[in-house]
Amino acid sequence: MALRSAQTIQSINPANKQGIGDMPIMSGEQVEEAVALSAKAFESWQLTNYAERAQKLLDFRKVIQKRGDEIASLITQEVGKPIVESYLAELNGPLDSCVYLAENAEKILKDQSIQFTNPLMSSKQGIITFEPLGVIGVIAPWNFPFSIPTMAILSAVMTGNTVVLKPSEKSSLIGLKIGELFEEAGFPKGVVTVVTGDASTGEALTKCRLAKIIFTGSVEGGIKVMTQAAPNLIPVCLELGGKDAAIVLPDAPPDFTARGLVWGAFTNAGQACASFERIYIVKGKNTDKLLERIHHYTQILRMGQPEDQSTEIGPVVDESQLLKIVAQVEQAKSMGAHVICGGKRRDDLGGYFFEPTVLTGVNHTMDVMMKETFGPVMPIMLVDSEDDAVALANDSQYGLTASVWTPDLTRAEAVARDLNVGTVFFNDGLFSHANPQAPWGGLKQSGFGRSHSHFGLIDLVNIKHICKDSPAGSSRFWWYPYGPTRAKTVQGGIKYLHGATLGTRISGLIDFLGGLLKKAD
Ligand code: NAD
Repeated sequence: MALRSAQTIQSINPANKQGIGDMPIMSGEQVEEAVALSAKAFESWQLTNYAERAQKLLDFRKVIQKRGDEIASLITQEVGKPIVESYLAELNGPLDSCVYLAENAEKILKDQSIQFTNPLMSSKQGIITFEPLGVIGVIAPWNFPFSIPTMAILSAVMTGNTVVLKPSEKSSLIGLKIGELFEEAGFPKGVVTVVTGDASTGEALTKCRLAKIIFTGSVEGGIKVMTQAAPNLIPVCLELGGKDAAIVLPDAPPDFTARGLVWGAFTNAGQACASFERIYIVKGKNTDKLLERIHHYTQILRMGQPEDQSTEIGPVVDESQLLKIVAQVEQAKSMGAHVICGGKRRDDLGGYFFEPTVLTGVNHTMDVMMKETFGPVMPIMLVDSEDDAVALANDSQYGLTASVWTPDLTRAEAVARDLNVGTVFFNDGLFSHANPQAPWGGLKQSGFGRSHSHFGLIDLVNIKHICKDSPAGSSRFWWYPYGPTRAKTVQGGIKYLHGATLGTRISGLIDFLGGLLKKAD
């Protein structure tokens, strides 16, 4: 459900710059109201069992299946994603998550027992239970406006939490749609609440009484969110930007590799955190052929209106994004980079279009190799060795994903183990965000914490240790009163457990047992 507000923000279709709807900018008070509603819903939602929640997720899956065309079409209109990608990259992940979580969350989060190995604790029995945290704030970006927040919400509600979602101001209609779909699936009021608005609404959310914040967005946004959450010590999971490297080894098949690199660099017009933003080709006999194939597959990409099923490159999201891309390409050119194809904005197409662009002659003094571009730009560096490629790939403030291109999977694994990132793909890229079984997250300025997989679920619960013992259990020799007898008992216990020789251990045991039998000092 969505709450109402007086101020509004307009959502623009980036393919034609037409307004497609006005959204309320929620005030701090309204955000607090939403969090209070969510906290109220948490009181009963946390008491539901896994089977009930699993059923709700499966009902939600049916709603997505039923309304898939409408959801995909709205995504394409609001952020300009080619329609094929709105199905492929936005619906798949949430649909799979419903099934994965319904089938696995209870197994993953079932109680565990602890084996105490210290014999002095033999009467104690530990169990670990995993309990919901409370209200989770999900703050989302616009580039995967449906799949990113929806997958986060599904994990949160399946673990018994409730959610307040703040979608990006550039994709608020989709955010509101997400709330509507959860409502239609029969989730009780307040389990999923949507607050629309800009950074000020997000900021208000981070200052509320949340149990956790899952933030996906820019490094700058992540730093702000963490700072804002710090006074209340609200834990944050940060999924931030990337500058992902593709390392191409000399034996990589040119045609296949070129197709993969072109897709990885240009899908979603390069506006993916895991887009291939730096290509390191280790020079070899195939290099010229590979470059020719990259040029070929880039030239034939169809750029145009994103709702056309044949469109492969849509617009970027807005003018500010376009200007950032232009600035990086122009800087690279002024510093000696060569434009192999593309390189220009295409205002003639009516929206925020930029041609898919391949650059060579780039290096690490250029922004296009060091800062996130988030546009359809593929900068390529030719390097002499695998070691050089790895060193350059690791020479980055980011550490989200990387890819290695070679038929030699043993060699690829050796490279993968040297890369400082959260995910490494062989001969592919990006896709695993949509696989709920795989952990997702990065290192360095790409953030911390993990979403998806059992690690993502563990991040959403209180890991509670319950330590059982009866009054008749082992002697609490560590309790008061202290004194020489107690000191000897304790020293004996330590010698018995950790003494270097058998003799020390036996004498320790004698001291320990003797101490236990003696009256306290
Ligand atoms: P952004 O940081 O501008 O905004 C993200 C969200 O944060 C929006 O909802 C925005 O309104 C909100 N926000 C902004 N300032 C805030 C503040 N001070 N307090 C609270 N909320 C605030 O990012 P964006 O432009 O929407 O998204 C693009 C970025 O997201 C890119 O850097 C991309 O790499 C990254 N991203 C990362 C992942 C990942 O999984 N690591 C996935 C998708 C996108």
